[in-house]
Amino acid sequence: MKYKITLLPGDGIGPEVMSAGAKVLRTIGDRFGHEFDMTEAIVGGIAIDETGSPLPEETLEQCRSSDAVLLSAVGGPKWSDPLAAVRPEQGLLGLRKGLELFANIRPVKSFSTLTSASPLRAEIVRDVDIVIVRELIGGVYFGRPQGKRITPDDKREAFDTMVYSEEEVARLLQVAYQLARQRRHKVTSVDKANILASSRLWREVAHEVSRQYPDVESEDVLVDACAMYLMRRPKDFDVIAASNLFGDILSDEASVLSGSMGMLPSASLGGKPAAGETWFGLYEPVHGSAPDIAGKGIANPLATILSVAMMLRISFGLAEEADAVEGAVEQALKDGYRTLDIMSPGMKEVGTVEMTDAVLERV
Ligand code: NAD
Repeated sequence: MKYKITLLPGDGIGPEVMSAGAKVLRTIGDRFGHEFDMTEAIVGGIAIDETGSPLPEETLEQCRSSDAVLLSAVGGPKWSDPLAAVRPEQGLLGLRKGLELFANIRPVKSFSTLTSASPLRAEIVRDVDIVIVRELIGGVYFGRPQGKRITPDDKREAFDTMVYSEEEVARLLQVAYQLARQRRHKVTSVDKANILASSRLWREVAHEVSRQYPDVESEDVLVDACAMYLMRRPKDFDVIAASNLFGDILSDEASVLSGSMGMLPSASLGGKPAAGETWFGLYEPVHGSAPDIAGKGIANPLATILSVAMMLRISFGLAEEADAVEGAVEQALKDGYRTLDIMSPGMKEVGTVEMTDAVLERV
C-alpha cells in the first residue's frame, strides 16, 4: 500500500523530533513493505517568516490531499508578542478547523519503567491507562462574539462565548463511546452543568448518546472534581470525554501521570470513514516547541514516535506495525535509554538521535 503523508516540522525542537518520526516511518515502510510518500510543508512561526501567514493556503491544500499529517510543534519567543497581528498558534487552530478535525485523542499511559519520573507516588500512577477525547473545534475557543471593549464608565472589559450545538456534542461523544468499546467499556463525560448552560446541553446530549451504548458504563463528573480525581484515583478512568477548554486543561494535568510531556502522543480526527478507507487524521506530540532546549539535540523524540504509532493504527489500520513501534519504545526504556527530561539515576542519558536509533534497533 502507498500512503501520502504531510510532515509539518514547525518551530523550535519541531524539526529535530520530526526527523525521528520520519525515520520511524521509513524503517516501518522497509520492514513491512509499505510505501510512505512524505512531503514537508510549513506552518507556524517559520511560515510567518516566509509568507506572512501561519498557515499558507498551499500547506492546507497539501494536508487535504494527504492520507494523514504529522505535525511537531509551533511557536517561540520570536513570535510571542501578544499584540502581534499573526501568531504561530493561529496556524494550529486553522489546521484543525480547516480539516474539520473535531476530536482530539490523547492516550495517557504510565510506562512501568518511568513511574519514578512522575511527581506522584508510584502506587497512584502504576498501570494508569486513560484516553482523553477532547472536542477540538468548538466551544469557547471558537465562540463568537469575542472581544474587548470600553464600558460607559471608561473601564476595559473583555468577553468570550462558550457555545455548543447538539451535533457538535453528539459526534464527539460517539467517538468516545466507540473507543470505549475497544477498551474497558467506560465513558466519563466531563462538564460544569451546575453552572453553565452549554454544559447542561452537553450532559443532556451525552445521556442521549449513552443510551445507544448499553454495554458501556457511563458517568458524569464535574470538571473541578475530575481534576482532583485524576490525581487521586486515575486508574478509575477509561475514556474521558470533554469540551475544548476542559479537555485542554485536564489533558495537560493528566500528562503528569505519564512522567513527561515528552512521552505523550495525540491524534486529531474527523468523522470515521466507511470500512476499508483510511481515516484522515493529524498526529502530533502533546508538547510545544520547547524553545529552551531547541537546537541542543536533547529533545525527547518518543512523543512524536508514539504519534507515528497512532497514525499507523488509527488512520491506516496497521495494528501490527503500530505494536512494533510501541513495543520498541517500551524496550528502549527497559534497556535504560533516557533523554534528559526522563532521566533517573543509573540510566543511560542520550540525545534525540541516539534515542531514535535505540528505538529503531528494537523495531
Ligand atoms: P513546551 O511543551 O514547549 O515546553 C514545556 C517544558 O517541557 C519545557 O521545559 C521544555 O523544554 C519541556 N519539553 C517539551 N517538550 C519536550 C521534549 N520533547 N523533550 C524534552 N523536554 C521537552 O511548552 P511551553 O514552554 O509552554 O511553550 C513553548 C512554545 O510552544 C510556545 O510558543 C507555545 O505557544 C508553543 N506550544 C505549541 C504547542 C503545539 O504546537 N501544539 C503546544 C504547546 C505549546
